[in-house]
Amino acid sequence: MSRNQRYDRQTIMPEIGTAGQEKLAAARVLVVGAGGLGCPVLLYLAGAGVGTIGIIDYDQVDESNLQRQVLFTSGDAGEMKATVARDRLLHLNPGIAVNSYTEELTDKNVIGLFSDYDIIVDGTDNFPAKFLINDAAVKMGKPVIYGAIQGFDGQVSVFDAGSGPCYRCLHPKIPEGVVLNCAEAGVIGALAGIIGSMQAAEAIKYIVKDASFAPLTGKLWMIDARTMETRIIKVPKRPDCPVCSRPPEEIPLESSSPVCFIATAGEIACDDLVLQDAVLVDVRELPEWSAGHIEGAVHLPLSALQKNLNVFSPPGNGKSCIFYCQRGARSRKAADMLLNAGFSNLYSLKGGFEAWRALNKDTPSR
Ligand SMILES: [Zn+2]
Repeated sequence: MSRNQRYDRQTIMPEIGTAGQEKLAAARVLVVGAGGLGCPVLLYLAGAGVGTIGIIDYDQVDESNLQRQVLFTSGDAGEMKATVARDRLLHLNPGIAVNSYTEELTDKNVIGLFSDYDIIVDGTDNFPAKFLINDAAVKMGKPVIYGAIQGFDGQVSVFDAGSGPCYRCLHPKIPEGVVLNCAEAGVIGALAGIIGSMQAAEAIKYIVKDASFAPLTGKLWMIDARTMETRIIKVPKRPDCPVCSRPPEEIPLESSSPVCFIATAGEIACDDLVLQDAVLVDVRELPEWSAGHIEGAVHLPLSALQKNLNVFSPPGNGKSCIFYCQRGARSRKAADMLLNAGFSNLYSLKGGFEAWRALNKDTPSR
């Protein structure tokens, strides 16, 4: 099969053409993680003829991976993912170079590994790894094609600190009160396919750079696969970002431990409420809200949020949101759900409306 024939379906498009194909052949892309996201990313990048692909993964194929990690088959159980992935990709496209790294990405090896590549694709599933990838990429001036999945929720973005925000502009640090919770973090295999495929498409667009392409730089694309509702939120560059606001040589790299995180919201006490330049969100149901609420608050019942997270719009200007309910349990649940969907700056009011009312006896509630 000639090279022309292999890539016919994409070179025939004026946005790609032979010039775009040559850019793809010259591109060097490193995919971190050959898991649920990494597998579809790798397949589509290899298929498209990305000339040099790196795969870093220190894990072995496990039967429980096969539900979503489409590069592997039952017979691969126990083999190193990066090695199996490399073999599969070379079978798919012998005309490209594929490098496999069966090691953990750490603050010690990240610079060396990234230096051989132009674009980094984040196929990891935990905050420390995503932070390490981001921080090293910003330091080295390399773009990161970001993807994340949890349950039925998925996100894609392009973090290119040279022309937009970085991942730390979205999440400056691991959300407060984060706890280990791998067992609860379920995922639909097909959603990993959707998000990984979108990451591959963003990488290809980034490489080819046709004038008609608008990459997801400065934007976070989100999907709720329960309803297939999607939306794009703008991610502003933070002037006080702990990473991309610094000169590259001053960006520290932290070691990453490959653990799975579920975010839980921090609590704000009623005494501190006046100090906060925040939007108050009442998550109680309508009868409770009608019976009295904190003046200036917005009403967004938890029941509506549970049906569709898209009913929440984060306030602009980097303001934080403080959720409250009657005593503080439902508001924590609401904030946790949104934090895990990728939103940040969300808190729960400790003790809820009752605690606020006890402290503000003289202030009429509405
Ligand atoms: Zn940043």
